[in-house]
Amino acid sequence: MSIFVKSPIVELDGDEMTRVIWALIKDQLILPYLEVDLKYFDLGIKNRDSTDDRVTIEAADAIAKYKVGVKCATITPNVERVKEYQLKKEWPSPNGTIRARLDGTVFRKPIVVSNVLPQMRSWKKPIVIGRHAYGDIYKNVEFSVASGQTAELVVGENKKIIYVFDGPGIVQAVHNTEDSIRSFAKACIAFALFEKIDLWFATKDTISKIYHARFRDIFQEEIDLRKSDLEAAGIKYFYMLIDDAVARVMRSEGGFLWACMNYDGDVMSDMLASGFGSLGLMTSVLVSPSGVFEFEAAHGTVQRHYYKHLKGETTSTNSTASIFAWTGAIKKRGELDMTPEVVAFGNRLEKAVVETIESGIVTGDLASIISTQNVVPVTTQEFIHEVKKRIEK
Ligand code: NAP
Ligand code: MG
Repeated sequence: MSIFVKSPIVELDGDEMTRVIWALIKDQLILPYLEVDLKYFDLGIKNRDSTDDRVTIEAADAIAKYKVGVKCATITPNVERVKEYQLKKEWPSPNGTIRARLDGTVFRKPIVVSNVLPQMRSWKKPIVIGRHAYGDIYKNVEFSVASGQTAELVVGENKKIIYVFDGPGIVQAVHNTEDSIRSFAKACIAFALFEKIDLWFATKDTISKIYHARFRDIFQEEIDLRKSDLEAAGIKYFYMLIDDAVARVMRSEGGFLWACMNYDGDVMSDMLASGFGSLGLMTSVLVSPSGVFEFEAAHGTVQRHYYKHLKGETTSTNSTASIFAWTGAIKKRGELDMTPEVVAFGNRLEKAVVETIESGIVTGDLASIISTQNVVPVTTQEFIHEVKKRIEK
């Protein structure tokens, strides 16, 4: 008996090992149980290339229309990838395109299982990272500079000398917009309220007295606007310097949302992912101010495993975060449609995954870090099969 899902879910397929896993999850863990209208977009690198990346834009627009999307990891092409896949050009990061189009904020949350102990002894609860996903170095303009040249920053009538080069060097310009920073602050406050967790934010405003300071001030303004809601929910806001935040995070017990500027979020989320166990246990959700959600695993396409797979060797790739991307989307769909049976299926699938890992049946990335006595290392396919056995129960 499959469960009927009222509204569509937008599905974005991807690349390499995660594409292999994607099909396994869909065929074995989702479609046998849910009668769901999946609006499918193939964001595999070949299709992005042959559609001149239009498919990415169409997928983003479909997510905006249907409100819930689930995305497989995708290749962001570089020079090597252009050669490998004979691409027309280095297409931009699909995640970057989708984030910009949905004006979204990315939240990354570790999946906590009892037998995967965090690297930090003090961490007891998940630390969620909210990454501002617009501007800074990700929308930079940069040059290599020859000796004897002068770099200037010109904005309208105003001009400042950046540096007079007496040898070769480099220069970079970054920007941000008040709208985007404000949306980010709003999204973080909404997420903290939704999850009932404290909110931390940090910048380097002692050094960047205009750029970073503007982030600080906008956050404070938005916090002041939601003061009564935050107080009623017992949620506290902490602002500090980024260095201080890093030090405090390491000795905290977790259980808060850490709002990060774009680069800090990129870097710190990878540190937290390995600190909490494995990239295979980190999920990611893009939330837009208009109430649109896109779920995915935080890791990439696991290229090294894919090359083994192509050679016909067995792999042991962790599908947990990809499965949780699906359950995140399914639960959100059920919540928005007000269909509790759909939410319940999402919970059931999550429980099956957690039970599998807690019973000691794990993929290679977890085999050496779990605290369980009897570790049963399994292949990519066997892990999904074990999860399926537990849903059937
Ligand atoms: P990655 O795919 O995240 O993999 C890095 C390493 O982390 C792997 O080689 C593997 O380590 C381990 N790992 C990650 N996920 C795992 C899982 N589910 N199970 C087991 N081990 C896992 O990063 P990458 O190799 O730097 O990037 C590959 C491609 O992914 C790139 O083309 C990049 O553009 C893309 N990417 C996409 C996204 C996205 O779509 N959201 C995000 C990041 C990167 P071992 O090899 O040691 O086993
Ligand atoms: Mg990163």
